[in-house]
Amino acid sequence: MNAQESDFDQLVAGLTVLCEGTDDGKFSCKNDAEWHLDYHGCNEELLCEGHASAYVSQLIYLLSRYGSAVCSKCEKTSYKLTDHIRVVKV
Ligand SMILES: [Zn+2]
Ligand SMILES: [Zn+2]
Repeated sequence: MNAQESDFDQLVAGLTVLCEGTDDGKFSCKNDAEWHLDYHGCNEELLCEGHASAYVSQLIYLLSRYGSAVCSKCEKTSYKLTDHIRVVKV
């Protein structure tokens, strides 16, 4: 590899955002982040497809089963999916 190629690799590596998803509280996901999740302004995360859809599915489940979901960080109670989270493609 010549100098130019390695510069290019570093540049690309710098632009690639990794998923911030956790499994059992441990950062273990090495996938590229594809979704930006904004939790009603109290928190944000960049997640891969798998982590984002797992989170959203869980939220939909809570809302349909209990009629509300409580944020684990700020304890805000949401009654609609869109009150709780905004999801934007990175
Ligand atoms: Zn992930
Ligand atoms: Zn919150």
